[in-house]
Amino acid sequence: MRKGILYVVSGPSGAGKGTVMQHFLPRHPGMFYSISATTRAPRVGEEDGVNYYFMEKDDFLRLRSADGFLECAEFCGNFYGTPKEAVMEKLSMGIDVLLEIEVQGALQVMDSYPEGIFIFIVPPSMEELRSRLVGRKTEEQSVIETRLDRAKEELRLADRYTYIVVNDVAERAAEELEAITTAEEAKSERKFEFVKENLL
Ligand code: 5GP
Repeated sequence: MRKGILYVVSGPSGAGKGTVMQHFLPRHPGMFYSISATTRAPRVGEEDGVNYYFMEKDDFLRLRSADGFLECAEFCGNFYGTPKEAVMEKLSMGIDVLLEIEVQGALQVMDSYPEGIFIFIVPPSMEELRSRLVGRKTEEQSVIETRLDRAKEELRLADRYTYIVVNDVAERAAEELEAITTAEEAKSERKFEFVKENLL
């Protein structure tokens, strides 16, 4: 049986990864969207087990020591990590998995799971990135400045990804992501199995 494909969607905070996901995921109900663990406090409307698994720092660090994360990173003062077991289990069952994570985490996955497909979502301009972060109204001004500085550093690493998607309009960017997943599925290294089983 073919293993699932691991898609890692990454990009600077405010590039609109979440909004692109909102357009993309409902059209891919068979894909497993990994819910991350974080030590960040929930924002208004966020639910434990839906948006994140919200954890105390001690518990998070304990899980990290026990090798419980596929990757994890500290981002703007909080820890974020991908619970490893669920992801590996789905992949071995042939289910495609999607991670939405920041850049340090994506770089770790590039090392530990290089067969993953790495997609970098970028904003159309830095002005647009700033206005998206301001418009979200979830962060203080100082946090926004930190996230913008971090974004610049992260953009320098974009060439390490398999694909770069410019998120000018989320719906269009989601279509581009869809085109990427369709093309990945059609790669001969994956589709030859179908030819052998059904046509030879
Ligand atoms: P936020 O606090 O805005 O929800 O997320 C901050 C950043 O952390 C975003 O770029 C988000 O994609 C990223 N993030 C969410 N979950 C994970 C994770 O499991 N691992 C890593 N490395 N980053 C994550």
